[in-house]
Amino acid sequence: MNIIILGAPGSGKGTQSALLIDRYDLQHLSTGDMLRREIAQQTELGKAAKKVMDAGQLVSDEIVIGMIANRLGEQGNLFDGFPRTLAQAEALDKLLNERDEAIDHVISLEVNDEEIISRMLERGRADDNEATIRNRLNVFAEQTQPLIAYYEGQGKLHGVDGTGDIEAISARIINAIDA
Ligand code: AMP
Repeated sequence: MNIIILGAPGSGKGTQSALLIDRYDLQHLSTGDMLRREIAQQTELGKAAKKVMDAGQLVSDEIVIGMIANRLGEQGNLFDGFPRTLAQAEALDKLLNERDEAIDHVISLEVNDEEIISRMLERGRADDNEATIRNRLNVFAEQTQPLIAYYEGQGKLHGVDGTGDIEAISARIINAIDA
């Protein structure tokens, strides 16, 4: 099984991913985590990516698609923070298709902007200052939001209310997948 968890930065994708990988025995593929590892290891890719990430912009499609392509294996996958552009979504469909696989479910975590901003300021990650957060929300609206229509058109989209208790949100996601 291949699942995408889609949502604005701070919508709870990482938290809910932890539950889903356990429950459905999936490989967790978070491009944000992969990029932060590159930064920690001070690789050339990491150094270039850090500037882009600190500004709240997106790293190039080519780089993130390459990272994902390198990690697809025998196990099912949970894609967290990828795809973020239509070009990435199309590349992912193609990569999976070549392996006779496909995306089964896309969970869209729905959280309003005010809640997102207050959650992210609490989280306090390096790229979580208010200017960057606003930038990331704009980037999400412009570049990532179109994916909702893309997956709706494929009949794979499940909109899930991402507010309230973590357990309640998890239960909504599981209901959507198991239905
Ligand atoms: P995340 O941890 O998913 O919020 O990602 C943190 C940052 O990494 C983002 O704000 C982007 O700068 C970069 N990033 C992560 N995933 C992607 C992606 N799929 N495409 C482009 N940039 C990404």
